Amino acid sequence: MIGTDPNLGREVVSAEVLRNRIAELGAAITSDYEGRAPLLVGVLKGAFMFMSDLSRAINLPVEFDFMAVSSYGSATRTSGVVRIIKDLDIDLTDRHVIVVEDIVDSGLTLNYLRRNLMARGPASLEVCALLLRDGLQKTDTDLKYIGFTIPPAFVVGYGLDVGERYRNLNAIVEYVGAE
Ligand code: 5GP
Repeated sequence: MIGTDPNLGREVVSAEVLRNRIAELGAAITSDYEGRAPLLVGVLKGAFMFMSDLSRAINLPVEFDFMAVSSYGSATRTSGVVRIIKDLDIDLTDRHVIVVEDIVDSGLTLNYLRRNLMARGPASLEVCALLLRDGLQKTDTDLKYIGFTIPPAFVVGYGLDVGERYRNLNAIVEYVGAE
């Protein structure tokens, strides 16, 4: 599929490199949260695959919840105005929350989410982002766990889409088609 699709460019992070890094992130979270049961909050849809693999690399009694947000703007650009499409089911009061994000670009989505979730009284709130776009953040993102810092190219795969496609690629790949 990757080799024959003209919309896909070079591989940015291979499946094997993803696997190894996620094992490291899981080990770090396991040691940082020893004796606690963190609540993983996945940001749909892009983070679903990362959340699934990350959670299996964490050797603690984790719980799961999901949020879906949509940002206004074109398909490949965020405007910073965020709307909650699906809210959490679990009460965050006194919970140790880890927000699991696919990619932080401008940081505006995360900034909004952090403020929104902090208002719900968690015991702690940290962010684990699989990808951080190099140097483009418009706001202080304060990420505790980062998988990879990647160059400015728009990417798909491993949960990330364009028009709902490419989420099932097992690697992070540059998207070179029309927006
Ligand atoms: P931010 O608010 O940080 O600018 O954008 C974050 C959101 O924009 C991500 O959660 C993701 O949905 C989307 N996004 C940003 N960069 C990319 C990218 O390279 N590929 C894809 N598929 N989505 C992206």
